[in-house]
This record gives sequence, structure tokens and C-alpha cells, in this order.
Amino acid sequence: MTYLVMKFGGTSVADIENIRKAAAHVSREVKAGYKVCVVVSAMAGTTNQLVNWTNDASPLHDAREYDAVVASGEQVSAGLMAIVLSSMGIPARSFSGWQVPINTDDAHGSARILDIDPKNLLEAMNDGLVCVVTGFQGVAPSGRITTLGRGGSDTSAVAVAAAVKAERCDIYTDVNGVYTSDPRIAPKARRLSRVAFEEMLEMASLGAKVLQTRSVELAMAQKVRLAVRSTFDDADADQVGPIGSDHNVPGTLVCEEDEIVEKQIVSGVTLARGEAKITLRGVKDYPGVAAAVFGALADERIIVDMIVQNVSDDGRETDITFTVPNDEYDKAMKALNSTKDRFEYDVISGSTGHAKISVIGVGMRSHAGVASSMFKALADKGINIMLITTSEIKTSVLIEEEYGELAVRSLHNYYGLDKADK
Ligand code: ASP
Ligand code: MG
Repeated sequence: MTYLVMKFGGTSVADIENIRKAAAHVSREVKAGYKVCVVVSAMAGTTNQLVNWTNDASPLHDAREYDAVVASGEQVSAGLMAIVLSSMGIPARSFSGWQVPINTDDAHGSARILDIDPKNLLEAMNDGLVCVVTGFQGVAPSGRITTLGRGGSDTSAVAVAAAVKAERCDIYTDVNGVYTSDPRIAPKARRLSRVAFEEMLEMASLGAKVLQTRSVELAMAQKVRLAVRSTFDDADADQVGPIGSDHNVPGTLVCEEDEIVEKQIVSGVTLARGEAKITLRGVKDYPGVAAAVFGALADERIIVDMIVQNVSDDGRETDITFTVPNDEYDKAMKALNSTKDRFEYDVISGSTGHAKISVIGVGMRSHAGVASSMFKALADKGINIMLITTSEIKTSVLIEEEYGELAVRSLHNYYGLDKADK
């Protein structure tokens, strides 16, 4: 018999009624013969409330006490889920991070999972219990409670799935899968039946907020197949086939690239708003100059995204352009100005209010011309491109933010991602 991990996010356990809906999905899988381990987030809004309280109590507080407070939300929902399951005739037992145990390092507030001993969970599941594990929390070597950083229960679920060698880790949320684009921007966005880990990583870090990026990295490294499903889909509806099998089946399977037979050239188009760009012109070109420029920004913990450096035609001067979030723009300018003595340049300039549009797809590895067709599609709409970067499975451009949504819709249509009109 095989193990299944089912993770429910904050909206899925927002109140008792929703917990019952979530429990109905668990019941279906138990009846199908799975040994189930449930991982829960705190009830929607709870973690924010707890974080606010720690700040109200004292803005400069001990991270160990922050963890003691904010980890409590998951304990409530785990206990409630176990109660609801038991009331439905499904024996269940809750487990806090330290009871599993989920061992982490001691970086309170953003701890990393070191290892999970699956013994207690396996024993309970083999005794016929559904285990309900608190997401988001673990235990430090000191024995104190830790938390994994906001959105961390996705990572808890994947780590538990890897530890018990689950067949799959199903992430239940309030959307029914991963889409080709944000449906609020591209109304013709379609649900993908399968998406490769690498594509999901690009989408997760580019703002498709379904899964925490770290959880996808972990799933990819540990080869844990993930499914994204909705708690609000009818739990008892007959399924046409297994998850990932075709477009009529609920959810999206996040899996290895070779599990995807028909690879799309482009499987997603994303929009990241609020980007700023900064250009240094006439930068004296010698080994270490890029390290000095970006070191100055890293010292201020400013996250730099796209970076473009030109070749210097005389081998002595170059231009460097990069992007930072709008709200880090002033800080970045200040950091560069105050470290002027570390590198030489002629002019510094920049602007805010841009957007990054990316097209993503593993099929790009084996197809030429994706970048050029993207530029053509944007040109046809009269949209000017300010900056271009590429990776093996992604092409990104920086444009004016006001054209962001138009660009997404145009590209979505251009690459044949629009769902058919009914
Ligand atoms: N409750 C935690 C948070 O809101 C963890 C999670 O939901 O993933 O960040
Ligand atoms: Mg979440």
C-alpha cells in the first residue's frame, strides 16, 4: 500500500466548514486505499495576525519567541483537522514539528529542514491512522520550535513526502492548478495538465504564487511528484483518470520533464510588475569591476534581477544595466553613489515603472526562434523592449509597465496558449 501526502493551505482550513471540505478529500483518498499524511497551514489570516502581535509587543524581539508565537497557528489547524477527520470515522492524530520530528537548523524565522525521521509517521499510518502534521514548523538542535519562513508549509509537505517516500504530494489550495498565465490578466489562460519542475520554478519565482519556490526546488531535488489541486472542487466527483492525464482531470501534475510527452514550446507567460532599471555608462573595464558594483548592492541586501553588460569596443569602457524592484530603487542608487570610490564610471541613470514579461517552456531547449518570434509579437503591438535576458528555458524582456498586460495577452495568444472559445 502506498503513502500519499495531502497539504491544505490557509484558505482550505479557514474555518470549520472548509476543514470539512478538505477532510472530504482526505476521506476519498483513504477509501481509495492510500495511507495518508495531511500537512496543514494555519487558518487564513492567522499567521499575519500572530506576526503583527509580535511586532506590537516589541519591534525588536527575540526570533526564538517570534517562532514560539507564529508556529501556534498550525497547531490549531492540525488539531482541528484531526478532530474533524475522527468525527467522520477516519481515525487521525496530529503531530507538531517536534513530535514528528522535523529537524531544522537554528535559523529562527527562516529555518531550513535538515532531516525528518519518518518512523513515528510510518508507525501511525501503518496502525491505520491519518497523520496530521503542522506545516511551517520544525525543531532546532536546541529543542526549541522553529519556523521555515512565510509560505513554508509547502516545503514541509514536500519534505514529509520525501521522508515517507510518498507516491505524490498533493497541494490543495484555492485554485485548481497551474495556469499558462494569470487568468486575471489573460482571461483565456488554460490550466496545464502537466508542468515540468524547471518550468514551475521559473513560474513560481516570477510571481505565479501557487507554490513556495523552495518547495519546488526541494521536490525537484528529491524527485517528489507534486500535484496542485483545489479544495473547493467536489471531493466526490468521479475522476476521469489520474492527475496529469488530460485536461478534464482536476489539478496540475508537477513532474520531471520526461514525464511530459507532448512538450509545449512555450507553456507559460508571466508578468512581474514594479521593476526599476539602473544603467552605469562608461564603466572602466577591468577584472573585478562587476564584482565591485554588485557587491555594493549585495551589501545592502538588494536583490538584482536582470543583468546586462555590454562588450567594450575599445576594451576599456563598458555599460552595465540591471533591474531591481521599484521600492529598492532609491536604496540602490544611494548604495552605488556612496561606494563610488570602488569603481569608475561616467554617468548613472535609471527609471522606475517597468515590467518584466517572460515566456517559459522546456521545449525552448530544442526549438530555435522563440526569442525572435517573441520580439516580433511585441513589435506588432508597438511595444518597445528595453532589456532582454534569456536562459535555456526562458526569454524575458523589460518593457513599460503600462503595456504589461497587453504584452502578456498578445504573447499568450501568439504561442497558441489561449483556450478555445466556447
Ligand atoms: N502559515 C504560514 C504562513 O502564512 C505558512 C504557510 O501557510 O505556508 O506563512
Ligand atoms: Mg501557502
